[in-house]
Amino acid sequence: MENILDNAVQNGKKITVLGKTASYIPELGRVNKEYLGVCVCTGNGIYHKSGDADVRFTIQSISKVISLAVALERCGFEKTFDRVGMEPSGDSFDSLVKLDLTSDYPSNPMINSGAIAIASHLVSEVSFEKMLWFTRKLCVDDDITLDEKVYRSEMDHISRNKAIAYLLESKGILANSVEESLDFYVRMCSLSVTAASLAGFGLVLASGGIHPVTGERLLHSRVVQTVKTIMLTCGMYDGSGRFAVEVGVPSKSGVGGGILSVVDKRMGIGIFGPSLDEKGNSLAGQYVLRELSSILKLHMFADYEGE
Ligand code: GLU
Repeated sequence: MENILDNAVQNGKKITVLGKTASYIPELGRVNKEYLGVCVCTGNGIYHKSGDADVRFTIQSISKVISLAVALERCGFEKTFDRVGMEPSGDSFDSLVKLDLTSDYPSNPMINSGAIAIASHLVSEVSFEKMLWFTRKLCVDDDITLDEKVYRSEMDHISRNKAIAYLLESKGILANSVEESLDFYVRMCSLSVTAASLAGFGLVLASGGIHPVTGERLLHSRVVQTVKTIMLTCGMYDGSGRFAVEVGVPSKSGVGGGILSVVDKRMGIGIFGPSLDEKGNSLAGQYVLRELSSILKLHMFADYEGE
């Protein structure tokens, strides 16, 4: 396994020059775009790592998976999907066009508008401290903290998300003020994880919501089923379709360069590669996942026997 990961990372490093870091959040723009790390977590929590798998970076949009899971646990399926749809938007993650023109609620919980709507309802349900505690558990990583610098940097450059939040408020979708909703949303985006933390979280999802080491149930299986399906259809921004065809593994990316991938019943995969393509997905990270999918036979719809 380690050899396969090393090769993929070595080759992936070569294309990190072709992408860009997410400079619309200045603190993310300053990150070294040559970083590339991967971690695969299998069995009862066995970690296989290569490259920069222990470097901390902010979780960004991957937190949308956690917020959706907690919303489903606390508010239930119907209430949650009353405020946000479950269809791919086909637009960029920070778009407000459809929300303004053709729909009364966000397309899905994996884009900014959907996640801000979910955050505004979570404000009434659960404290940020509790969310942090639960994120540590889900990621099997007690060292996750709030990255104050990134949090500040995003709060100082929040205009676009503020516009989305006001639009949501005008449509009656927010349960709390624009300020409270955005503060909760940005805090969740600013949690510092590693590729290894994401791999741990991936394994919990791959195991149907069970903690791989303690055996404790952290999420209901129906919640995990819903979350993984939405990751497959909407998790890679407006690149979700191609990624599903090429890799065939439910995944969620973030503009910090992270990707969380779940190979059902088998493994969790975490990626860190902050050099992004034009859609906001880690460029080299996607390369590594294409390689792993083909070499380790991970595509959920492939007929490897019949080939
Ligand atoms: N905090 C980022 C934003 O709201 C998250 C975007 C992402 O990772 O897709 O713009």
